[in-house]
Amino acid sequence: MKITLGAVSKPYTSLKMKTGDWGTHWPKVDEELCTGCGTCEMFCPDMCIEVVKVGEENGKEIKKAKVNYDYCKGCGICAEVCPTKAIKMELKDIYKVI
Ligand code: SF4
Ligand code: SF4
Repeated sequence: MKITLGAVSKPYTSLKMKTGDWGTHWPKVDEELCTGCGTCEMFCPDMCIEVVKVGEENGKEIKKAKVNYDYCKGCGICAEVCPTKAIKMELKDIYKVI
């Protein structure tokens, strides 16, 4: 059977496609409210929000959610699922009417 290339994409090419300017909104994380629970990371369809260590307190790691804006499409799922409402979707400046 002949296999044609057709629309088959090459592996790892999605990293070259920066999709961060597709959306109209940015997710903004309020670090005071973020508990580092990882729910947003689990639900993000683009794997562009990650809980990372930002420090230590009494020998315990402090973790917060960080968004990779190069790939975030602004879908808002992270804001919907966050149990502490630490993420707010903000309209990007270029879409604000003066
Ligand atoms: S779901 Fe909310 S509280 Fe949990 S890591 Fe993400 S931003 Fe922080
Ligand atoms: S807005 Fe959507 S794509 Fe962007 S970090 Fe949140 S869940 Fe992921």
